[in-house]
Amino acid sequence: MISRPIITKSVLLSAALFSIGVQAQFKQTPLPYSYNAFPNVIDAETMETHYTKHAAGYVSKLNAAIANTPLEKQSMEAILANISSLSTEIRNNAGGHYNHELYWKMLNAGNPISMSENLKNEIIKEFGSIEGLKSKMAKASADQFGSGWVWLIVSPEKKLLVTSTPNQDNPLMDVVPVRGIPIIGIDVWEHAYYLKYKNKRADYFDAVFNILNWQEISSRFKDALGTNSEEWESLEKFHEVMAATFHPVEKGNYSPLKLRAGELAKRAKELQNSDIPSSQNKTKLKASIQKLIMQTDLLEKRVKAKAKDAELKSLITNTHNIFHEIMGLCKEK
Ligand code: MN
Repeated sequence: MISRPIITKSVLLSAALFSIGVQAQFKQTPLPYSYNAFPNVIDAETMETHYTKHAAGYVSKLNAAIANTPLEKQSMEAILANISSLSTEIRNNAGGHYNHELYWKMLNAGNPISMSENLKNEIIKEFGSIEGLKSKMAKASADQFGSGWVWLIVSPEKKLLVTSTPNQDNPLMDVVPVRGIPIIGIDVWEHAYYLKYKNKRADYFDAVFNILNWQEISSRFKDALGTNSEEWESLEKFHEVMAATFHPVEKGNYSPLKLRAGELAKRAKELQNSDIPSSQNKTKLKASIQKLIMQTDLLEKRVKAKAKDAELKSLITNTHNIFHEIMGLCKEK
C-alpha cells in the first residue's frame, strides 16, 4: 500500500518523459531527389549542406522553441499568421522551416514540365510573358539586400505579385508589408549558391528559374485561388477540436478524444447552425455537415458506453474523413 503513491508518481513521470519524446511536431520531408540531381545548377555539396545542416537546423530549433507550449498543437499556417506576437527565434525558425520545405519542392529533377493553362494566362496577363515574370523576380532577387527570399504570391484579391522578404520571413507572416499565398519561393541566401556561384546571385537565380517545377507551382496556384478568404469561424472551431482529438489517436493516445467527444459533437451542430460563406456550395456542404453530425453523435455515444479503442479509432477516422470532404468542398470553385 505504501508503494502506491510512488508507482503513481513514476507512472506520471514516465508519461511526462514520453510526451517530451514525441513532441517534435515539425519534420523535414525527405528530398524528392538526390543531392546531385542538378549538377549544372546546384552542386551536390551545397544541396547536402543546405538540406542536412541549414534546413535541419531551422526545424530542430523551431521544435525546441515551441516545446511544451500551445504552439505545438498549431498548424504552421496558424503560427505564421500570428508571428508578430511570437519571439524572433520562432519567427526565424518557423519561417526557415516553411520556406525550405517549399524551396525543395520548387525544383524539378526530371524532364521539363509545362505549367497549367490557367497559370500561364495569369502570368501573361500580369507580367506580359514568362520572361517578364522571370526578369521581375530576378530584379527582386538582385534588390533584396543581404539574405532573403523572392516570391511569387497570390494576393488576397487573387492577383499574382512578385515580392521579396529579408531573412526567413515569408508572405504568410503578419509582419510583412505584402501578404499572400506563396506559389514560388526562391532562397537567395548565400548558403544556397555561394560554393558554385560565389557572389553571382543573378547567375544562380537565372539557373534555378530554369529548373522550376511548374507542375507543383500550377497546383499551388490552383489551391491558392480556391482558398476562401471569407472566414468560416465555426469550421475553424470544429477543426481545432478535430485536430486535438484525432492526431493523438493516430499516436495511440485516446485521452483527448475521450475527454472531448461531446465537444466535437457540439461543434458539429454549431457548424450546421452557422452561416456558410456565400461563395460556397451550400447544398453539398449541408449534406456533408449532416453526415458529420451523425458521426460525431455516434462517437460521443460510443465514448460514453466505453467502447473499445479500435472502435473509437474507426469512428474518429471516419469523422476526420468527412471533415476533409467538407474542406475539399470549400476549395471547389
Ligand atoms: Mn536556405
